[in-house]
Amino acid sequence: MTTTSTFDYIIVGAGTAGCVLAKRLSADPRVSVLLVEAGGMDDYAWIHIPVGYLYCIDNPRTDWRFRTEPEAGLNGRSLLYPRGKVVGGSSSINGMIYMRGQRHDYDGWAAAGNPGWTWDEVLPLFRKSEDHWSMDDAAQRRSKDSESVRAATAAFHGHGGEWRVEKQRLHWDILDAFRLAAEQAGIPRTDDFNRGDNAGCGYFEVNQKRGIRWNASKAFLHPSLKGRYERPNLVLVTEALDTRLDFEGRTCVGVSFKQRAVEFSVTARAETILCAGSVGSPALLQRAGIGAPDRLQAAGIAVRHALPGVGENLQDHLQLRMAFRLTKARTLNTIANKWHGKAWMGLQYMTMQRGPMSMAPSQLGAFARSTPDQPYANVQYHVQPLSLDKFGSPLHTFPAFTASVCNLQPVSRGSVHVVSPDPAAPPRIAPNYLSATADLQVAADSIRLTRRIVAQPALRPYSPAEFLPGPQYETDEELAKAAGDVGTTIFHPVGTCKMGPATDPQAVVDAQLKVHGIERLRVVDSAIMPTITSGNTCSPTIMIAEKAAQMIRSDSSLV
Ligand SMILES: Cc1cc2nc3c(=O)[nH]c(=O)nc-3n(C[C@H](O)[C@H](O)[C@H](O)COP(=O)(O)OP(=O)(O)OC[C@H]3O[C@@H](n4cnc5c(N)ncnc54)[C@H](O)[C@@H]3O)c2cc1C
Repeated sequence: MTTTSTFDYIIVGAGTAGCVLAKRLSADPRVSVLLVEAGGMDDYAWIHIPVGYLYCIDNPRTDWRFRTEPEAGLNGRSLLYPRGKVVGGSSSINGMIYMRGQRHDYDGWAAAGNPGWTWDEVLPLFRKSEDHWSMDDAAQRRSKDSESVRAATAAFHGHGGEWRVEKQRLHWDILDAFRLAAEQAGIPRTDDFNRGDNAGCGYFEVNQKRGIRWNASKAFLHPSLKGRYERPNLVLVTEALDTRLDFEGRTCVGVSFKQRAVEFSVTARAETILCAGSVGSPALLQRAGIGAPDRLQAAGIAVRHALPGVGENLQDHLQLRMAFRLTKARTLNTIANKWHGKAWMGLQYMTMQRGPMSMAPSQLGAFARSTPDQPYANVQYHVQPLSLDKFGSPLHTFPAFTASVCNLQPVSRGSVHVVSPDPAAPPRIAPNYLSATADLQVAADSIRLTRRIVAQPALRPYSPAEFLPGPQYETDEELAKAAGDVGTTIFHPVGTCKMGPATDPQAVVDAQLKVHGIERLRVVDSAIMPTITSGNTCSPTIMIAEKAAQMIRSDSSLV
């Protein structure tokens, strides 16, 4: 038996973008919104304790557990490719770094034929959802900043929005020394990465509230589901299986899915909106017969509408994890490998939500030019007071830090394609890391830049000795090979439903995020980015959902 019903809007995916959109659309009590999520509720304790990130990745309770194809650029390695499968989506398992990207990222989107997406136009949307610590009453009372400095902060940051941004709750001497070394190497200090030009070195700001993860569901969704602000016009369905799009010709009329063996068929009076992320959204389109005809036919899927860009244009940041052994340093390696260190960490967190358990995986950041001829900061550092062989391995027992560096604007492009009509079959993910010569050069240059920073006087007292990838790699060719050995995703896949004008053969959605050639269907998530932003991709995705909500509400013929 199939249960049928009708809503004004159906949103597929209660992830980062989906939670924002559900809140904004359901703010109008006259419209009804259904939010359909494949994962379960975000009620797993490790989601909320920042260090629990380590236990959420590759965990079936929270992660889709995708893998990439073996990658030639990574010397044949295949990578874990985590994506949140839980309410809150990837914001429930991510590294919590608050980062917007740079002015030229968004100006580039607009210049590529996407009106309305310049930095100046999206900045108010970042500010709208933001709740920045610096404007809290207590912070204002403590602040010694002049009126003009406060005004400058207020011009870039918002207060009172749902998306909480805080300073981190711990510093490390070794990271302070790295920051000084970066300055000695010509990378200035910054206290704010989020003003459109990220260049500089400083501690990241994070999406946490008093030492607890602040994911998109806590921020945007839960208050609308129960309690004082409950909205009867918003319905969340979790653990939805086999979700597929329903069509009449080229009009998307709703979705069907199963939940605990019950079949549902739901009609969307106004629109269906895909917020299933950079892997999920192209997969849903392809299974509905929207994509490159040859690829669809090879997967056994009948073609509904030829749109060759679906699943193409995959971009990600490849982090090159360089690790340095130290003498006489306090790092997480040494603390976490002793029982009394672990006990101290647990006690600090339980009593004050402080200490290493409140730690975002990366604390210190830097944005720099890999070579002086680069027009903008084109590499980002994530510096961690810890080291391990590879993700999922135990921490080393000796003191060490990791300086991970990634190319912010890679030229290499990959793809996400379904291989069968079966919704349970994982798509084929081929990022094609380091397939472009330009990316190999940036990789080699950024390894050299890291060595230059680490050789500065500020780090000398710790006698840093590179052990990953190792000082024996020196020429461009050797460094490209080394990058392939130590390179891994920093979890920012975007671009697989590219936004662009109909004249762009790879475009999947227009600047209003409507799917080209299809009626009543939009994609609203990280998949629409035409080019990857210069930094971490969660808050840009929140901004995309804010903008989409405005566009959808102003388009609506319902009220
Ligand atoms: C481990 C990790 C660390 C990261 N660290 C950071 C960081 O520190 N800072 C930062 O800014 N960014 C970070 N990112 C990236 C950032 O979190 C993502 O870019 C962003 O959250 C993507 O948002 P989204 O809405 O596109 O997708 P998601 O948030 O992944 O949401 C997609 C949702 O759709 C659901 N879904 C998928 N398919 C279906 C289907 N068929 N039916 C129903 N539901 C479906 C999924 O279960 C999920 O809930 C990290 C990501 C990961 C995974």
